Amino acid sequence: MGQVYTNISHELLTPLTVISASVERMYEQNPQFAQDYALINLNIDRMVHLLQEILETSKLQSGELKLLVSQGDVMEYISHTALCLEPLMAKRKIEFSVQCQPRSMMGWIDTDKLDKIIYNLISNAAKYTPEGGKVSVKVCTNKTYDSITIRVEDNGIGIGDETMKHLFQRFQDGNYRQMNTIGTGLGLALTRDLVYLHGGNINCRSEEGKGTTFSVTIPINKESFTESQIDEAHPVDLNKPQTYILDISSITPQETPSTKVEKRESADEDIYNILIVEDNIELLMLMQTLLSNKYNIFTATNGQEALKVIEETELDLVISDVMMPEMDGNELTERIKSDSNMSHLPVILLTAKNQDEEREKSMLIGADDYIIKPFKLGDLDLRIRNIIENRKRIRREFKAQTVEESRLKATSSSPSADERFLKKAIDCVYAHLADSDFDRDAFAAEMGASASTLYNKLRSITGMNVSAFIRDIRMKEAKRLALTDPDLRVSDLAYQVGFKDPKYFSTCFKKEFGLQPSEFIEQVASR
Ligand code: ADP
Repeated sequence: MGQVYTNISHELLTPLTVISASVERMYEQNPQFAQDYALINLNIDRMVHLLQEILETSKLQSGELKLLVSQGDVMEYISHTALCLEPLMAKRKIEFSVQCQPRSMMGWIDTDKLDKIIYNLISNAAKYTPEGGKVSVKVCTNKTYDSITIRVEDNGIGIGDETMKHLFQRFQDGNYRQMNTIGTGLGLALTRDLVYLHGGNINCRSEEGKGTTFSVTIPINKESFTESQIDEAHPVDLNKPQTYILDISSITPQETPSTKVEKRESADEDIYNILIVEDNIELLMLMQTLLSNKYNIFTATNGQEALKVIEETELDLVISDVMMPEMDGNELTERIKSDSNMSHLPVILLTAKNQDEEREKSMLIGADDYIIKPFKLGDLDLRIRNIIENRKRIRREFKAQTVEESRLKATSSSPSADERFLKKAIDCVYAHLADSDFDRDAFAAEMGASASTLYNKLRSITGMNVSAFIRDIRMKEAKRLALTDPDLRVSDLAYQVGFKDPKYFSTCFKKEFGLQPSEFIEQVASR
């Protein structure tokens, strides 16, 4: 720490302030981008807070940070301050209570330092308590009314033995990913130092999986402070804006996106379903917002969740972060690519490292593309379009190919898994061409796949559902037969390609090729 940190922090705070002011001006001029400005502001606030923490720690260490206590209603002040964090709790659906016993009591406090102590303890409790949990703050005094004890209790994830050993050490590396949060590892070290500055003490009891209680005791009687630490002139002001607290209450994003976004109503068949898997909620929201005007966006915050969405949804593409809790992006890709139910799904990985090794790894496990963080959203969109265009091209080609051509493709030197699957599917329909009872279920059984796998894969590769695929092969074959033998009767042609009803066959044929089979045969014969 020390001077270098102080300087760096200041150097960083200045440009942040400039950015913040510029955003404000832009907002006034173009209020339609309110959501984007809010996101920028949220992140500015976050950086400002982290820098303030560094500065404060640095000042404490160099002895620059001095106590200055004023007189006021201690209990009222603490409950007012703690309740400023109510919105943070509400956002996380945590039951929050604040109790002071007695409700009102005069004493001497340094509101600035006390704010930070209270904020750090309560925000930690919120960070490390899952949704639906409980956080309570209880404040009491001792028999002689010359100290207070603030107890912050949660029923969250608790603290493991290893973390407990170094709990108040600086840069303690937090369990951020698991709880989807951020931190510097400075908070508790700073809190303890602030408590010690008061001549107080802090302790922690915790049980993993059960919860955590932090207790802080500080003196509040005038006698505990030196003359230079006492500010007689300015009593505690409850209406003083608590910027420290308020800034931070925005530390969690405004809203958590739902796992599933409502499907866009559109007649356009070319609306693609994309799943974004990212544990950083803000980045997830940003990608969702920016891509949702072009695609149906589904979201998940880890690999496990992603697998569930994949199971339940007809997707066209998966975009996944690599580093995530529960199941990371590499494992997710491996699972997708090795499971024949899902292997048709293209995957784009978002990797943090610009290293060839990482890149190679992503490709080896079967990712279709990767993009390096931080990336421009335009780049991501380009990759998405590439993959989707590629799929469209394959679908167009398939449509235009004869059955023979599609089969040949799969016997090329290195057919892709999709091409091999397609050949198998074509062969399968081909083998049952004249069998009018050959339907979706028989087809799936013959392919050794479930009906939904067959459906998903055919849709992804050819853009057709199972019945349309069977019909497509039948029609292509009918056309080939008509071309090779113009003497064939339409009804025979129909039976040979598995149609019981020649009239229905004619309707399908006309829809496909624009001519009745009889007209087509006539044209061929007259050539
Ligand atoms: P951070 O910025 O990481 O929150 P802190 O110094 O505030 O840094 O906390 C240090 C570590 O102590 C955290 O990373 C977390 O593992 C643990 N911790 C603190 N408070 C709690 C709590 N209420 N419940 C569970 N773990 C906690």
